[in-house]
Formats: sequence, C-alpha cells, structure tokens
Amino acid sequence: MRIIETIAKLRAAIAEWRRGNPGGTVGFVPTMGYLHDGHASLIRRSAAENGLTVVSVFVNPLQFGPNEDFDRYPRDPERDRRVAKAAGCDLLFAPAVTEMYPRPAAARVVIRELTDRLCGASRPGHFDGVGTVVTKLLHIVMPDSAYFGMKDAQQVAVIERMVEDLNFPVRIVPCETVREPDGLAMSSRNVYLNAEERRQAVILHETLKLAEEIFAEPGMTPGRLMAAMREHIRRAPLADTDYAEVLTWPDLQPPEEKPFGEMPPGSRFIAALAVRFGRTRLIDNRLLEIRTPAGKE
Ligand code: AMP
Repeated sequence: MRIIETIAKLRAAIAEWRRGNPGGTVGFVPTMGYLHDGHASLIRRSAAENGLTVVSVFVNPLQFGPNEDFDRYPRDPERDRRVAKAAGCDLLFAPAVTEMYPRPAAARVVIRELTDRLCGASRPGHFDGVGTVVTKLLHIVMPDSAYFGMKDAQQVAVIERMVEDLNFPVRIVPCETVREPDGLAMSSRNVYLNAEERRQAVILHETLKLAEEIFAEPGMTPGRLMAAMREHIRRAPLADTDYAEVLTWPDLQPPEEKPFGEMPPGSRFIAALAVRFGRTRLIDNRLLEIRTPAGKE
C-alpha cells in the first residue's frame, strides 16, 4: 500500500495503474479516518470488486459547523494505515487541508430538498461541505465505483442524487451498516462516550428495532411511529433527542399521514435518529418497505 499526500501524485499513480491494467476498475472509499470495522467493510468490498482500491483520509473542515467537533475529531494516522492495508487498500490518500483547499473555495456544490431535514436541518451547511469535498475527491480519483455506508443514509441519498443530477460518471455503492455486538452502529465518534453513555447508546438501535417491528401493525401511521420512537428514546435518561423522524426514501420528504397499510406496496421509508449523549451526537437509521402481499409479486 502506498501513502500519498498530494493530488498530483495520486493522479499520476492512478493513471499509471490504468495504463498497466487496461479494462481494470478503480474503487474509491472516502473517509475522515480513525478507521474502524465499518470503514474496513467498505474497503474490503471495493477490493473484492476492483483491481485498484483508493481510500482517502481527510477530515474536511468545510462540513463542520463553527461549534462542531472539527478540532477534536479523533485522529490516528498509524492505525488508519494498518486498518486500510489489512482491508485491501492499494493507495491511501491523506492530503493536508492546504492541499485540498489552497485558498477559500469560491465554487460550492449545493444539493437542495434532500438536505432540508434530518442532519441537513440540524447541521446547516454540512451537506454543502460534503457535496463539495466528494465532488473534488471524485474528480481527483475518477473511480469506477465509490463506496458509502448506509449509517449515513442521508449522505447516500444526497450523493446519489448529486451524481445523477450532475451526470458524474461513477457508480455509487451503498453498503450495510456495521455494528458493535450490542447493536450500536460503529462510528469514529463512539470514542467520545463515557462508560454510562456507551451503555445507554444502544437505545438508538433498540428504537429502530422497535420501529421495524411496529411499522407493519394495523393502523400504524408515520406520525404514530415517530411518537413511539421519541417515547422509546426517553427510556435512556442520558439521551437527548435531536431528531426522530420517518420520511420517504430516497426523497426524504414527509409521508402522508395515513396508515402504512393503505400505501402502495414497494413504498419505502426511512426511520432516522440523531441523539445526543453529552457533547456526542450519534446517528442511526433503518429503511422500511411496504411489502407486496404474498402471491402478488
Ligand atoms: P466517516 O469517516 O465517518 O466520514 O465515514 C466514511 C464512510 O464510512 C462513510 O461512507 C460512512 O457512511 C461509512 N461508515 C461509517 N461508519 C460505518 C459503519 N458503522 N458501517 C458502515 N459504513 C460506515
């Protein structure tokens, strides 16, 4: 595995690989580092599907708000190298902020509508920062496929829409969320939690499991489901709910307030949560789908 810090060297290395491997495909996994098994699963998937796997580690200042955790975001370049290499990364791109933003960017990528709610509402400007950095990285790497975790489902929806609306020549591959044994979604931010917060953090997963179970109950509506989710989170005394919402997937719009049972089979929704424990904000989600009645495939 090669570690590369400049855009010019990364482009040269990828171009050289493409010359030596005609028809070979390049997979790309963008990350903010402090790699865990969730990241590793994306890297393994890319390595299994492509001849060359590029991983970026870049804590992107553009996607953090002024009072967010940019300065204290966990960093461990040594471990990142070990995890990336073991998972099958070929080129690890770790640019400095000045390499990615040599001067303040006048051009930004703004994705509307899908960013009005959930993390887009709680973190103003966040998805402009994500859209902009992902655009830059895709233009630098020019991969055939790029791998994103469904833990950040709104990010997946936003990137898929950006790529579609703006005709980026790349396949976006959403990957399943990897969890700790008790169900907590793996996240670099989990290290911020103290022991009691960590114990209670399983409430996100439990609330989504509940949502999945009661979603199909007769008479269940989006409003009732959201109320049940908010109620359930209160069982964890340290949990402070930022949002607990049910929206249409992948458009992320409020569904009509009528029983799910009256909605067309195949309709998809997302139950999404953001919950604070002290200064730590955790997110998780579950996709819900109205099943086609048996025998009516
Ligand atoms: P981050 O470093 O948090 O920006 O994440 C980089 C990529 O890894 C994003 O596409 C995330 O959605 C994905 N990711 C983070 N945590 C997980 C997880 N627990 N399971 C699967 N993918 C994840």
